[in-house]
Amino acid sequence: MPVFGAGIMKGMRETARNFFGSYTDVERLTTVQYPEERLPVQENARQFPFLVYDGDDPMAGLRCVACQICEKECPPQCIIIEKDTVKKPDFVGKPQMQAKVFDIDMSVCMSCQICVEVCPFEAIKMDTEFELSNTDRFGGLLFDKHRLAKSNDYYRDIHPTEAAAIDRKREETLKKAEEKAKAAAEAAAKKEPVA
Ligand code: SF4
Ligand code: SF4
Repeated sequence: MPVFGAGIMKGMRETARNFFGSYTDVERLTTVQYPEERLPVQENARQFPFLVYDGDDPMAGLRCVACQICEKECPPQCIIIEKDTVKKPDFVGKPQMQAKVFDIDMSVCMSCQICVEVCPFEAIKMDTEFELSNTDRFGGLLFDKHRLAKSNDYYRDIHPTEAAAIDRKREETLKKAEEKAKAAAEAAAKKEPVA
């Protein structure tokens, strides 16, 4: 038969254990003196999205091909994309669309990560940065593609396991594309008439 108040007693016992234990065991200190002290950011932490770029040029290296899937799937509709009329080559040299405008309203974003899950190009990932507050009430949290762009090295730093898996996948794709191009070049050379 359940004892009335047993749950409350159990909770209080746990609270007391943590309270007194925090004087002797550092593992029981559940708070830190933020911002002077900071807890280490966990690898699977997620805050707000950013756009990944490869190489040294953030705009030329953006992986985004402006397919607009993330824009359509974002539940609060805080992604705004406009396609450019000019294409640029992707990492295997294939011409792809690019975004002329890519904005995310961070004041609306709910950090659900759906944009990341639906992106077929590994172009958008979740950042661990959370200190975005600023004094600009009008547009201070509307991030454009320049502000959203972060390098693949940064991605490797914050999510090493995930980024390494994607690097491997992209290396395989690149290798296959190179083999295909080489085979096509050899086939074309064989067809050339002998002079
Ligand atoms: S981030 Fe990904 S899903 Fe969104 S537009 Fe770019 S390529 Fe498409
Ligand atoms: S994390 Fe969610 S709310 Fe934020 S931009 Fe992506 S899909 Fe939209």
